[in-house]
Amino acid sequence: MGTVLDLLDVDASLSEEERQIRAVVRRLVDDRVRPHVAGWYEDGRVPARELAREFGRLGLLGMHLTGYGCAGAPAVAYGLACLELEAGDSGVRSLVSVQGSLAMYAIWRFGSEDHKQRWLPAMATGEAIGCFGLTEPDHGSDPASMTTRARRDGDDWILDGAKMWITNAPIADVGVIWARTDEGVRGFLVPMDSPGVTAREIRRKMSLRASVTGEIALDGVRLPADALLPAAVGLRAPLSCLTEARQGIVWGALGAARDCLETTLSYAATRTQFGRPLAGFQLTQAKLADMAVEWNKGLLLALHLGRLADAGTLRPDQVSVGKLNNVREALTIARQCRTILGANGVSGEYPVMRHANNLESVLTYEGTSEIHQLVIGQRLTGLSAFG
Ligand SMILES: Cc1cc2nc3c(=O)[nH]c(=O)nc-3n(C[C@H](O)[C@H](O)[C@H](O)COP(=O)(O)OP(=O)(O)OC[C@H]3O[C@@H](n4cnc5c(N)ncnc54)[C@H](O)[C@@H]3O)c2cc1C
Repeated sequence: MGTVLDLLDVDASLSEEERQIRAVVRRLVDDRVRPHVAGWYEDGRVPARELAREFGRLGLLGMHLTGYGCAGAPAVAYGLACLELEAGDSGVRSLVSVQGSLAMYAIWRFGSEDHKQRWLPAMATGEAIGCFGLTEPDHGSDPASMTTRARRDGDDWILDGAKMWITNAPIADVGVIWARTDEGVRGFLVPMDSPGVTAREIRRKMSLRASVTGEIALDGVRLPADALLPAAVGLRAPLSCLTEARQGIVWGALGAARDCLETTLSYAATRTQFGRPLAGFQLTQAKLADMAVEWNKGLLLALHLGRLADAGTLRPDQVSVGKLNNVREALTIARQCRTILGANGVSGEYPVMRHANNLESVLTYEGTSEIHQLVIGQRLTGLSAFG
């Protein structure tokens, strides 16, 4: 894609606008992310608020949404931006995905006009940060079993429960929190400084270390009636947000894989053993060829799904095909690249192990591989094998 890796000349099928957006994001990642990301990862600290404001200035937050200060970009352009961001780091792409495709999308799709006016313009510039709380300590793949509850008290709502593994929670201004009510699952906009809300950072992650993750405790949190997202009724609402965010992951995972492949191609060209560069060994070329073929197949898949999204016909089970394939293949590529770098492959001096470790989280969040296999299995057989 603009590189020797683009074996199929996919680049030529992109519009001028798509290529320009890609170039702008690539430059931003080169200037603002690449020089620092190994340090952020090692320290487990990332200047997320600062990055959010820079991404906001470029229109990357809620980029595919329309109105309220959002750029209204097509799905393919948004996907290309995700690819470039994740070529920097999956954690950096996660910041943008959670803000734009989970928190902002939920407000944009299900919020009242007041919610949209209050939050979306500030979130689009990165002045306000959002998080999306669906997963709980005891309920991950099966959110229908959630135990976080919201009950009426006069006109108010009272929330009790806990959310776990929530990206951006410790730095968020607002949380889109999903809770069980007498009318089924509903979504609430929770100012994160509300009395009874605590968001503790989850430390000691071995993956996505350049991303802030937290657990949220909700202890008798009193919210006004208008905290409820009026149009979000039932579990379909949060699931539709996940379908939205997964589209960015389909592209993003290819970015991490591309960075691994480019690093490896350049390493193999200069590292000499047995009197010749690693790139000159047939066994190395077999690995490189197989990885490049998978990467190109993944790119065609992402582009196809992006074009379906832009045509308005994309189905959730089709997104599952992309999430399952592209993250799984990206992780295989990252691990294979690591072998070609030998001992240097385990060093933080090179990005490969960082990407591989990050992709372990990407494989798990937004639906694990197994959950996407079950979605595709149901499409193929008509039988649900979830429970
Ligand atoms: C870094 C990070 C950031 C995250 N950010 C967010 C966020 O912002 N918001 C949010 O809500 N969540 C977030 N998550 C949570 C993520 O979505 C969950 O981890 C994921 O849904 C899986 O849930 P779990 O970890 O509880 O695993 P479990 O559901 O306990 O699954 C464990 C294993 O069992 C398998 N399994 C489960 N059910 C079945 C089945 N029916 N058949 C076969 N196998 C099955 C799974 O595939 C998996 O391999 C994040 C996670 C990580 C790691």
